[in-house]
Amino acid sequence: MPESSAPFVPEDADLDELRAAAADCEGCPLFRDATQTVFGEGPPSARVVLLGEQPGDQEDRQGRPFVGPAGQLLLRACEEAGIDRDEAYVTNAVKHFKFVTRERSGKRRIHKPPTLRELTACRPWLVSELHLVKPELIITLGATAGKALYGSGFRVTEVRGTVLDAPDEFEAGGVVATIHPSAVLRADERREEAYAGLVSDLRVAAEALG
Ligand code: SF4
Repeated sequence: MPESSAPFVPEDADLDELRAAAADCEGCPLFRDATQTVFGEGPPSARVVLLGEQPGDQEDRQGRPFVGPAGQLLLRACEEAGIDRDEAYVTNAVKHFKFVTRERSGKRRIHKPPTLRELTACRPWLVSELHLVKPELIITLGATAGKALYGSGFRVTEVRGTVLDAPDEFEAGGVVATIHPSAVLRADERREEAYAGLVSDLRVAAEALG
């Protein structure tokens, strides 16, 4: 049997029931090393969904999406672009933190991107969340979030900052792709430029929302 969260997703559930069920998901091996499932959060009536890749170290410890440094940066960028982060539903394509441990750096847990197989395994949670929220717009943050919607051929650099049609399965009015806020944090001397690019893409989303 292929790895999948589908057997763990309850039918006709609301977001709270989905979140509770996701806490016990063993649909792929990522649940084994992570602290807990980090499910999406935000108002069920949200007009916009912010979709990231997977929880990071802080998110894994706190059990909430986008509470670490990248989340803080995203909050600032959203405010600057005119998107109210508190009015958005925030989630990740993969709900468990994937990492490798580096002994040499004090057992630091270093983020590792999910594979296509893990993305596919976790997809039923995302489909169910989006089915309930039915947002006007999904903002994908980074390449992995885009691949969760459009498959492995997705290239964020080719389509960022434009309004795309959402695949039917995801029940959204449209999609705007941009980079992940952690890419801004990693950009070092080009950080300002990367941040400006993120805000510019988010402004396209804000305009689409009207
Ligand atoms: S990553 Fe997704 S599919 Fe894998 S165990 Fe976690 S919730 Fe389930």
